[in-house]
Amino acid sequence: ERTEFVSYFHHIIDRFEMNTPEHITLHRDLPRGKYLVWLDKDKMTQVLDNIISNAIKYSPEGGTIQLKVENNRHHILVSIQDQGMGIAYDKLEKIFERFYRADKARTRKLGGTGLGLAIAKELVEVHHGKIWAKSVEGKGTTIFFTLPLMNKKWRGER
Ligand code: ATP
Ligand code: MG
Repeated sequence: ERTEFVSYFHHIIDRFEMNTPEHITLHRDLPRGKYLVWLDKDKMTQVLDNIISNAIKYSPEGGTIQLKVENNRHHILVSIQDQGMGIAYDKLEKIFERFYRADKARTRKLGGTGLGLAIAKELVEVHHGKIWAKSVEGKGTTIFFTLPLMNKKWRGER
């Protein structure tokens, strides 16, 4: 359905804020403008839940998570940046594969199946977006994804 992404994202973050450990800060860097995108809301909520849960799970005490939306002409660019332990460069591509878990010992302790990001990738692609990660070991990780903006022509076609 047609959705204004920024207010939808605010709702998602509001819901997270109620359950986020106190030592972690969620920082919003969201524009005021209206950005219309086509969303399957259940699926997009799963994408954001997965990415934000990871950011929280892998954040250190006192860490800040930055949630950002930028406008890239034909797309919006959504990013979720944490200050966690990061992911080695040679493992970055693999985190979107099913059952892949970087650093076995550490992630075993934290729990999970290694499916979260594989599902997120599939669901972003259902929305005709792309997803990727940047990370610096010891500094943090940013997950980016894009979503096509609805323009007038596109809207008329639906
Ligand atoms: P699940 O999401 O199924 O509960 P998971 O979190 O281990 O399990 P994914 O969300 O698919 O699985 O992530 C895959 C792996 O990528 C993780 O096991 C972890 O090693 C690494 N990873 C994902 N997000 C981060 C992050 N924000 N910081 C550091 N490592 C991360
Ligand atoms: Mg996960």
